[in-house]
Amino acid sequence: MRTKMLAGNWKMNNGGAATKDFITNLENWFSKDPVGKKSAAAVSSKAIEVVVAPPFTSIESACSAKQTDIIQIAAQNVYHKPKGAFTGEVSLPMLEEAGCKYAIIGHSERRHVFGESNEDLEKKLIATLESRVLPIFCVGELLEERESGNMKKVLDTQLESAWRSLTSDVVADMVVIAYEPVWAIGTGQTASDDDAEDACDYIRTLAYEKFGVTSSDSLRILYGGSVKPENSASLLAQRDIDGLLIGGASLDADSFEKIIASAL
Ligand code: PEP
Repeated sequence: MRTKMLAGNWKMNNGGAATKDFITNLENWFSKDPVGKKSAAAVSSKAIEVVVAPPFTSIESACSAKQTDIIQIAAQNVYHKPKGAFTGEVSLPMLEEAGCKYAIIGHSERRHVFGESNEDLEKKLIATLESRVLPIFCVGELLEERESGNMKKVLDTQLESAWRSLTSDVVADMVVIAYEPVWAIGTGQTASDDDAEDACDYIRTLAYEKFGVTSSDSLRILYGGSVKPENSASLLAQRDIDGLLIGGASLDADSFEKIIASAL
C-alpha cells in the first residue's frame, strides 16, 4: 500500500510568526479534534503523510514549532551545489540542517516563471537524491500543449531527462512525482478525475517500462492543481493518485484539515 501524501505548498506566503501559529494550530487539531485524532492515527499507521512547504525563511520556525513528527517539512526549491558563490540560492546541506524531509523540485512556477530547464532540474533531482532530503518532482503540461494533444509528449520529455540516471531502487524508495497541469495551478480549474487519473496512470506506465513492476508499484504520484475540500476525495479515490500537492487551499487551516480528512 502506498502512503497517501497531502502536501501543502505555501509558495511565497507566511513569514516566521504566521508559520509558527499555523503549525501549532495544526498540531492542536491532530491532538484534540476527533477527525484530527483519526488523521494523526492514520499518519502513525503510515496510511497518510502530511507535509507543509513554507518559504525558506520560515522553515526553521516550522521545524521548531513542531512538537511531534506528524507534520513533515519540505522546501519549495533547492540548489544542486553544496556551497559556494551562488548568491540567492539555498543548498541541500542547509535544508537538511534546518530539518526538511522533502524538497519540491521543478514546480511549474520554477519552470515557467524562473526559466528552470529540464537539465537544471535533472541536476537538482540527482543532488537531492544524494542528500538526506527526498524529492517531490513536479511535471505537467501547459494548456496549449494539452489542447494540441501533446500532454504525454511533455511528460515523456520532462521525465526522460529527470529519470535517465536513476536506478529502480531509488525510484521505488525515494522519489515522489507530482503531476501538476500548469493550466490547473492557481486557476480554480481543477483537472477532472478522469484527466488527472489518465496522466498519473501514464506516469506509472512510464515508470513500469523504465524501472519495472516493483518500482512502478511503489512510486508515489500526486496530483496538484486547484485542489480544494470539494474535489479532494474523488481525486484521491483514483487508482493512480497517491496524494495531493495543494497550493492556495493549504494556506487556510480549515481547508487543509478538510483535505487531510478526505484521505481517511
Ligand atoms: C501548487 O502550487 O502546486 C498548486 C497546485 O497550487 P493550487 O492548489 O493553488 O492550484
